[in-house]
Amino acid sequence: MEKMRYSGFQVLLNGLTGNKGWRPMWRDPTPKSEYDVVIIGGGGHGLATAYYLARKYAITNVAVLERGYLGGGNVGRNTTIVRANYMLEGSSQFYSHSLKLWEGLERELNYNTMLSQRGCLMLGHSDGQMDALARRGNMMRMQGDDAELWGRDETRRHVPYLDFDNARFPIKGGLMHWRGGTARHDAVAWGYARGADRRGVDLIQNCEVTGFRIERGRVLGVETSRGFIGAGKVGVSVAGRSSQVAAMAGLRLPIESHVLQAFVTEGLKPVIDNVISFGMGHFYISQSDKGGLVFGGDLDGYNSYAQRGNLPMAEHVAEAGMALMPMIGKARVLRSWGGIMDMSMGLAHYRQNRH
Ligand SMILES: Cc1cc2nc3c(=O)[nH]c(=O)nc-3n(C[C@H](O)[C@H](O)[C@H](O)COP(=O)(O)OP(=O)(O)OC[C@H]3O[C@@H](n4cnc5c(N)ncnc54)[C@H](O)[C@@H]3O)c2cc1C
Repeated sequence: MEKMRYSGFQVLLNGLTGNKGWRPMWRDPTPKSEYDVVIIGGGGHGLATAYYLARKYAITNVAVLERGYLGGGNVGRNTTIVRANYMLEGSSQFYSHSLKLWEGLERELNYNTMLSQRGCLMLGHSDGQMDALARRGNMMRMQGDDAELWGRDETRRHVPYLDFDNARFPIKGGLMHWRGGTARHDAVAWGYARGADRRGVDLIQNCEVTGFRIERGRVLGVETSRGFIGAGKVGVSVAGRSSQVAAMAGLRLPIESHVLQAFVTEGLKPVIDNVISFGMGHFYISQSDKGGLVFGGDLDGYNSYAQRGNLPMAEHVAEAGMALMPMIGKARVLRSWGGIMDMSMGLAHYRQNRH
């Protein structure tokens, strides 16, 4: 158990002494000329990889190279949902394992990730969709995760503010996954970063990888905006840029990059207890601890590296939101943003499974 650095006493002490006593959460090291492992990308996955290499396998001569700041990519831009309600082989096991990691993460990192298992509800709008939800629920239970199939009355009892009689998308019921919920994803990046740094991993920000040095088919290291860095092994964890970075090593990945947008309203009093997904229109919503309604929709329909969205998708999301819960029309959107999603050719699979 590492020493507690944030206590009520420390907050009081620092509050009275001009907040000068806090130490930075991680070092700002100058890159060494060589590492056993170099990981490109300081998002959640890159930082977690570095952390587990050090923590589980005692491999600590590791650097994470981030071209901007830690957690500035998708990990700090998402809608914070964590869940294990996928159906297909592969996805199901992956998310099941991942949710178990989330459940132990605060203790593991000694860091408040604000995990809130408030339940993820997927709505069904037709008999066929209710059958599909029943099948999915059974698959989830066989995987060891929780699922409850609710009929219309049960759903209405929990979420009475939805429009159950919408002419186009009437709500027939839903599949509730209570262990799902939200976690503050950028806090996760910071927690992993702190844990990795303390175990000796060098976290190097403002260091863009611009190429690979390859001799006789072997990667010797990476060229960066801060010079060449040798590496025994190189890991690539650059969501949104995977094909571009892989192309530097001569690999052509079967990946398309699309923008995914998210939106948040002004802060409201507590109104939505769970995470709710609209089964027909790629709309999902939850309420943050600050009170903002956080919601999103589908991917923008074309490939792009712009980290911002477009108006047709904003309109589509607003339309779906209004069909599902008309009261949202009274809320004012505070801001919207976009992140870049690397989608494999199983895009149809993703769409089917995402919410
Ligand atoms: C709007 C939106 C909503 C989402 N909602 C959810 C959700 O509710 N739940 C969920 O689980 N997931 C969600 N996701 C997906 C989730 O955010 C990503 O899967 C996850 O954050 C990816 O983490 P990562 O570490 O792989 O990538 P990132 O966090 O994007 O990190 C990759 C890093 O690589 C760096 N990089 C890129 N190129 C280079 C280079 N050449 N050299 C050095 N560094 C480089 C980038 O600067 C970036 O910091 C959402 C995504 C978006 C965009």
